[in-house]
Amino acid sequence: MSEDVSVVVVGSCMTDLVSQAPRLPKAGETIHGHRFFIGFGGKGANQCIQAARMGAKTAMVCKVGRDVFGNDYIQNFKNNGISTAYVEQTENAATGAASIIVNDTGENAIVIVAGANMLLGQEELQRALTAIVNAKVLVCQLEINPDTSLQALRMARENHVKTIFNPAPAIADMCSDFYKASDVFCCNESEAELLTGLSVTSVEDASQVGLELLNRGCGSVIVTLGPQGCVVCQSRNMAPKHIPTTAVTVADTTGAGDSFIGALAFYMAHYPTVSLEEMARRANLVAAVSVQTVGTQTSFPFRKDLPTELF
Ligand code: ADP
Repeated sequence: MSEDVSVVVVGSCMTDLVSQAPRLPKAGETIHGHRFFIGFGGKGANQCIQAARMGAKTAMVCKVGRDVFGNDYIQNFKNNGISTAYVEQTENAATGAASIIVNDTGENAIVIVAGANMLLGQEELQRALTAIVNAKVLVCQLEINPDTSLQALRMARENHVKTIFNPAPAIADMCSDFYKASDVFCCNESEAELLTGLSVTSVEDASQVGLELLNRGCGSVIVTLGPQGCVVCQSRNMAPKHIPTTAVTVADTTGAGDSFIGALAFYMAHYPTVSLEEMARRANLVAAVSVQTVGTQTSFPFRKDLPTELF
């Protein structure tokens, strides 16, 4: 059953608990808000959802709690056609949660409790081995134990499965082995800055940072630049290429990077002969759709909503 899965994501699931209030409460204070909603998030799950909505056969390797949020998340994966064969539930921690307060001017305060995400480890990877080694593309981030991400990337590489690594959230002292384990290393400006110490405010900066990351051993590098699209660096012998995107009316950019990476995973798995630059151009256009609607996964487009020339 797992043999036909093209994209496997080893990563995080988080339940977003969002309260909108006139202002952020002070310590010890209780205030009334005017709206509450629950959303599905976590970088790993977000990326898997976008790849699935593009039409990839996907499997998620993750851990949730044996609680109502975990049950709901599993249903969310099923609703999106994602295999939950490697979604495990644990009694030992709660499903990852992000408690988010947003004030009327859009500022927020967030507490993330990674919970069950941090219990995903070697044993779970071994149980998902068949799916990982038979996939076309494996995607990892850093919202789970970094050792688990690195091990998953290595398992994939040893079996000639292409890897996409998204170093998010970035950690300053990240193990250098992550670079060598990444066929495509895809980060945003702030992650690139934190990892290299170089400031990234322009396309030229992103090109410099991309070359530096190539020197550290990445197969290819993509640095995403919000409304400026992205820069693709494929080798030291090729000039970095800026891939601009279209101007759109922005409603909410939350999750744009995850939409981009999920789309990229789909293209790498299903169009292996298309150039990385062309895949990045198309992923830009998918992510541009996501920023025009409020929400994270709720804003990610389905294949039927996208122009046919993206396929
Ligand atoms: P992150 O969400 O990780 O901060 P970015 O802000 O770089 O990442 O966005 C990722 C991708 O989403 C960009 O490369 C681009 O394709 C798309 N995107 C983000 N913001 C916009 C925007 N304002 N207009 C059009 N596309 C956008």
